[in-house]
Amino acid sequence: MIDEKKYQQLVSELKDKAVVVAVSKTKPVCDIQALYNLGHRDFGENYVQELLSKQEALPKDIRWHFIGHLQTNKVKYIVPFIYLIHGVDSLHLLKEINKQAKKNNKIIHCLLQMHIAREETKFGLDENELYEIVNTQINTLKNTCVCGLMGMASFTNDIDQVKNEFIYLKKVFDNTKLLPASSSFQPSILSMGMSNDYLIAIEKGSNMVRIGSLLFGARNTL
Ligand SMILES: *Cc1c(COP(=O)(O)O)cnc(C)c1O
Repeated sequence: MIDEKKYQQLVSELKDKAVVVAVSKTKPVCDIQALYNLGHRDFGENYVQELLSKQEALPKDIRWHFIGHLQTNKVKYIVPFIYLIHGVDSLHLLKEINKQAKKNNKIIHCLLQMHIAREETKFGLDENELYEIVNTQINTLKNTCVCGLMGMASFTNDIDQVKNEFIYLKKVFDNTKLLPASSSFQPSILSMGMSNDYLIAIEKGSNMVRIGSLLFGARNTL
């Protein structure tokens, strides 16, 4: 079940500030359709198999965002229709996306995922790896466009910790904007903030939030 009131509230709260990606992982097609019927078009999924079956079943003008950890051997399945890949955390993965994009005669938009949390388990690049990719490799990849950064804050009740992580990511994002842009590198999107921390993220400069449980209710299983 979707929470229509929450949805309308969120949309008006974030209007002109941030794109809302509705994170529908583990939720049924009917929930996505319900939000679609209210006019929503941006949806995020974490698992390739689940995304493929939902994409098949749902209207074709949905903008699908892949927000999970993407394995290189699965890139080929989503490239034909994906709108934005948020979690690009290695050059190896970016190259594979570029290769599959070329095969499909497409340009795929991607965000580089930065590791900003305390937890070791979260994926992402550090600043050196980011600049290495941007400065030395990106212009050889003609079928991808890196159009910003994504990050996930620590899972904690320590608000100052979360704030500092978002401030740090915003600073890195601003630094990337000073680097030379090209058809392969046009940083404009900062994807940060989830159900529990999106207000902090917006305050710290996010312009794209990924909201799941607030809209669709808690997930039982993963
Ligand atoms: C699941 C997930 C979200 C949404 O989480 P909620 O707390 O339910 O809003 C956002 N981003 C990523 C990368 C996720 O995996």
